[in-house]
Amino acid sequence: MNRINIAIDGFSGCGKSTLARQLAKAIGYVFVDTGAMYRAFTFLVIKEGQNRDPISAVINSDPRIEFNEMTEVIINGQNQEKAIRGIEVANRVSEIASDIRVRNFLFNLQNQLIESKGVVMEGRDIGSVIIPNAELKLFITANIETRVERRYHQQGGDSQSVTRGEFKTNLLTRDQKDVEREAAPLKLVAGAIIMDTTFLTEKEQLKMAMCLATPKMNPSDLLGMVSPK
Ligand code: C5P
Repeated sequence: MNRINIAIDGFSGCGKSTLARQLAKAIGYVFVDTGAMYRAFTFLVIKEGQNRDPISAVINSDPRIEFNEMTEVIINGQNQEKAIRGIEVANRVSEIASDIRVRNFLFNLQNQLIESKGVVMEGRDIGSVIIPNAELKLFITANIETRVERRYHQQGGDSQSVTRGEFKTNLLTRDQKDVEREAAPLKLVAGAIIMDTTFLTEKEQLKMAMCLATPKMNPSDLLGMVSPK
């Protein structure tokens, strides 16, 4: 069986992480959520507070941004998964992610993670910049109402403090910044397969991704079935 790399890109809140995590688990690959790395960096920038050049300060501190076995974000040894998912980080992350210094810093970390094949990596520039030779590239989208509902319910429990309106503004603003920025913008690259998840359950999304990944991992099996003996 071929070990391949799978690049998943797309708009904010379309279910990329959920799909990538489930796909990686199903095929025994490593899952990498690069958005979480940009969020982690943004968390550190916010912590720099009044520093005149917080981005340089964070880079110079050479922070350790890692994942634990549950793929939660560990920053300098501390679990900050909850903090990086908050609205404060969400509202700043696309601005920070447009800075070339930040992208270069995280590019190096991400490159180390794909040194060996067998990775499902998701983000905004995976198929275009990080793994341009990925054997399978998916571009995930969904309509905005569906994305807002999913984010709203993801907050869970009774602590629903962020309104649907705030989520909608956040998602659309981030999309615009991610598409329009100069450095590694979100774009549909040649060869990427568009998956609209608006009307698909998580199970159906996984099934579809498996259908697309399996022939890439087992090309000889597939050819064996159709070639004359
Ligand atoms: O995927 P997630 O919504 O957590 O990503 C947060 C933000 O990080 C995105 O809106 C985008 O600005 C940035 N990002 C990026 N490149 C990536 C992954 C995320 O610029 N590869």
